[in-house]
Amino acid sequence: MLKIVFGVVIAAMAIPLAVVLMRFNRKRLHIIRCAQAADDQQLEDIYSQIDHLGTQTPSCAVLARTNRRSGTDTDWTIPVSSFVEPWAGGTISTDASAGVSFRRASSTTPEPVLRGQVYRIVPVPRNLTKTGKERNQFSPDKYVKDNPRLMSALAAVCPEYPTDLLAYLLAAGAETFEFDPIFQARVGGSPAWVQDAEFPVCTECGKRMSLVLQLPGALLPGKPMPDGTLYLFGCIKHPAQTKTVTQLS
Ligand SMILES: [Zn+2]
Repeated sequence: MLKIVFGVVIAAMAIPLAVVLMRFNRKRLHIIRCAQAADDQQLEDIYSQIDHLGTQTPSCAVLARTNRRSGTDTDWTIPVSSFVEPWAGGTISTDASAGVSFRRASSTTPEPVLRGQVYRIVPVPRNLTKTGKERNQFSPDKYVKDNPRLMSALAAVCPEYPTDLLAYLLAAGAETFEFDPIFQARVGGSPAWVQDAEFPVCTECGKRMSLVLQLPGALLPGKPMPDGTLYLFGCIKHPAQTKTVTQLS
């Protein structure tokens, strides 16, 4: 008797949970399908709206999804945006012999390519706070607020879930619409740490280093690391000094 009661209680708890998970997954797959069906112009209509959102000069960019491919699965380069000083104009690439390590080389790569997939550099809107401080706005929810043109560009691709679509497009490191900044590929700006902050210091001057690249593990070259995020840091005074930090969730 006790066994039967126990079984009924477990079923009563498990069935609603299974329904929630099924609904979540159906929504997730629908958003991914919408994004994958979008043409280049539709995605550009979305990203070009974000280009103009900030009132201050940007200091950071995120790599947003496109449906274009370039080269093969091993192609992997990220040009550093003009506003990410002093590394601007350089390229972050991988050294095949060292696996997950980065080197800077000057190149004219126009677009980021990770694992053969092309990404669009989207500057992160930067605004003034009430106290007059400049701050990057990473949250996609804030982008759509009071922005009917962005909303209609998103709705043209996914009428049911326009805001969730934006979260999916701007966090390229996870196949979900639930926005988590650790899944953003960022060039410059500040890191979204998976664990406690772990800023490295420059070997030459001992000062805290600045973020050059945040990269979710799924986008790493070679063997992906879905549970990890990699951070590449550099010293503003000694740009040749770089260090990488990896954190696991
Ligand atoms: Zn230094």
